[in-house]
Amino acid sequence: MSRFFSARYADLTPYTPGEQPQNRRYIKLNTNESPFPPSPGVAAAVEAESRRLALYSDPECVKLRKKMADVYGLGPDQIVMTNGSDEVLNFAFMAFADEEHPLAFADVTYGFYPVFAQINRIPYTEIPLKSDFCLDPADYIGLNKTVVIANPNAPTGLALPLGDIERIVKSNPDNVVIVDEAYVDFGGESAVTLLNRYENLLVTGTFSKSRSMAGARLGFGFGSKKLIADLNTLRYSTNPYNINRLTDAAGQAALAENDYYMANCRTIIENRAWTTEQLRSLGFRVLDSQTNFVFAESPDIAGRELYSKLKDAGILVRHFDKERLQNFNRITIGTKEQMQTLIDTIASITGGDKP
Ligand code: PMP
Repeated sequence: MSRFFSARYADLTPYTPGEQPQNRRYIKLNTNESPFPPSPGVAAAVEAESRRLALYSDPECVKLRKKMADVYGLGPDQIVMTNGSDEVLNFAFMAFADEEHPLAFADVTYGFYPVFAQINRIPYTEIPLKSDFCLDPADYIGLNKTVVIANPNAPTGLALPLGDIERIVKSNPDNVVIVDEAYVDFGGESAVTLLNRYENLLVTGTFSKSRSMAGARLGFGFGSKKLIADLNTLRYSTNPYNINRLTDAAGQAALAENDYYMANCRTIIENRAWTTEQLRSLGFRVLDSQTNFVFAESPDIAGRELYSKLKDAGILVRHFDKERLQNFNRITIGTKEQMQTLIDTIASITGGDKP
């Protein structure tokens, strides 16, 4: 730390992104990216748009929001587009949480929540998941705090039924409930259908997972017009051109080819079922995932050791150094061939017979 670094941030522990190694080609199953490329129209749209890079991008993303509105059945003024969903989450924390409206989220969930809380100096409570890693909705009923729930959750992959989300939203009418749906396209139930009934609901999502665009950085927030206007106040106070021209064009092209992405999601769901079955037959405990990853614990080998051995063998998975998660690894679901290689490699590491 330099002597110039503001004391405001001296205690900040930054988020640790998953490894993005540049030195070697790995089978990359560590950051929940899609194994499939963007749809064909995306490359063409980006190429065409690149000729207009001398001009600033549209700060309102008018065309993109119109297409989002059509796909999701909302009004364009119920939508804000952001630089990944990380950005909308940060804006939402800034906008809707403070000393009077402290944050509450699970003890095992997306690692950026405590970081955004810290950088914005918002007090927060981490509510323990049950011993089976399920979230108990009762813990959030009438909590009177700004609630954040990743649904489905990461890194567990477990999803809450929509009825539970609705009860939580309904019982906290004076606080915003943020539902982070980064993984919803892989089997979760979206809370978008509740938006017109609850003014305190904000749903966030991303093009990073189901739409194969993690590198383009495109996320979004859905809410009442007023919530979205508040988020725009913060967006225009930090970075009005948060969506660059290439990403805007890529997003529009992706929405025009939505069927391609939904078909890819079905393939991931099939590969997830296969991988879960194979890991279980190797003795692993695998949580029931509704996402594009599985969270798995081996009875034979510590989580970090399995992570290291897989890395030596050219496969990257994600291990979290958190007490409760010691023996687990989070494994992104890739293509069938990638998953076959993963299973064969794990079988040879643990000495199990290939299933
Ligand atoms: N929410 C959850 C639960 C996530 O796992 C991630 C991915 N790291 C994000 C939000 C943010 O993803 P992005 O900024 O790429 O949209």
